[in-house]
Amino acid sequence: MGELGINGDVQLKGMLNAPPRPILTALTELKASALVDDPCFPQFIEKATGRNGRTKKTFGRPQADQDRLFQAQYEHIEGTSCNDCPTKWESKRIARDTSEPETHYGIIASGNCVIKHAATRDRLGAKTGALCFEMESSGLMMDFPCKLIRGICDYSDSHKNDKWQGYAALSAAAYAKELLGNVAVAQIAQERLVVEVCKDLKKEIKTIRDISKGTQAGIESIQSAQYLKHIQEWLLPSDISINFNAALEARQEGGMLLVSPKRVIL
Ligand SMILES: [Zn+2]
Repeated sequence: MGELGINGDVQLKGMLNAPPRPILTALTELKASALVDDPCFPQFIEKATGRNGRTKKTFGRPQADQDRLFQAQYEHIEGTSCNDCPTKWESKRIARDTSEPETHYGIIASGNCVIKHAATRDRLGAKTGALCFEMESSGLMMDFPCKLIRGICDYSDSHKNDKWQGYAALSAAAYAKELLGNVAVAQIAQERLVVEVCKDLKKEIKTIRDISKGTQAGIESIQSAQYLKHIQEWLLPSDISINFNAALEARQEGGMLLVSPKRVIL
């Protein structure tokens, strides 16, 4: 979790709390079984998109020629599509054996802004080791135990568009379904419910608000006391003795004290 400063430097703010043990155990088993067995989530994707024409249109896999990665130095010129971006600037990649989503495990960088600049993407990737970038999970706070699963839908460069968003979202949901299907129910029963965690968070937020209110009231009290003192000084008659003593100090023996152009005191 981090923030991107004005000068482009990233400031790391922390990381998400570790997920519950049953989720970690299920994840380890899923990774191990993927070495010898086909995963189930591609079937979930196929079933979901095949439900009707609308689901296919919204969540279906775009054509392979819509997956275009350009070299970092080539910036998108204009328009919502890359139809005018020449193929000569595309990065050469080895073709995949399958069109199923590839699963990656590693760091997901969550920040306060969208990354859509290839050079920034590469720099942040080198600094944080992140495989991808996102914004939404920064709201989950650091003390909420969770595991982040994201579908990658673009290359965080200036060619970024929303063509792959539906398919990426469905892929992440399908993987989450398979992961949850591997979680041992008995272990889950021993974990705290989300609602309990949220209750604790709510209490902590209320305490912080109460402290904040008390501090604010204290500041206002000090400010009004100072304001009242200024009013009193302004309204009260001046101290005659102060003026008299000042006049005594200023006078000269046998001389004159000029008060105004027309009046003199001897
Ligand atoms: Zn483009």
